[in-house]
Amino acid sequence: MSPNIGILALQGDFYEHARMLDLLGYRSREIRRSKELNNIDALIIPGGESTTIAKLEDAATKFTFTDADEIPIFDAIKEKILSGMPVWGTCMGSIVLAKDIEGSSQGRIGLMDISVRRNAFGSQRQSLEILLNIPVLGQPGFPAVFIRAPLFTKSSNDVEILSEYDGGFVMAKQNNMLVTAFHPELTSDLRVHQYFLNTIHQ
Ligand code: GLN
Repeated sequence: MSPNIGILALQGDFYEHARMLDLLGYRSREIRRSKELNNIDALIIPGGESTTIAKLEDAATKFTFTDADEIPIFDAIKEKILSGMPVWGTCMGSIVLAKDIEGSSQGRIGLMDISVRRNAFGSQRQSLEILLNIPVLGQPGFPAVFIRAPLFTKSSNDVEILSEYDGGFVMAKQNNMLVTAFHPELTSDLRVHQYFLNTIHQ
């Protein structure tokens, strides 16, 4: 049976991830509330703006679409990750998964043993695309799009670094958590999506 893949759709480029999964023959669901996570086997947290999603998460919890018996969505995601659900955060998604965001106390899920430096490559105008060496994907290099991207600067021994760049690293895995500082969903190269799908037990 095909797994149920959720894409957190509070903010950011969730549609682009759905399109990539579609091209690989997988259906996905947009997730906006914690109860929608119930039947999800894997989750993608897209790119966007981490300070905004943290505010939206907070506002959603306090004021809008949360039933009395529903817990905040970051807490619900945390529970699912701790119970083994594969999760992949791209750019903003990687920031909310990180335990440490340099110099910031903004809201987060905070389960992965990495430090992130937000906007490490400069502003929107300094966004870049490079051919990135990702050994687990083989050759050729991956067309990695960085948009106000973070750099991962520190990690614990439990973190497997999958791609290094610019004095830090930009793709890593810790158990069922995968992060990329760049945006595979904005390319036509399906290899990182396929790599993530391979980690889901079917
Ligand atoms: N700069 C954004 C942040 O700090 C992330 C940008 C992105 O997801 N493309 O949240």
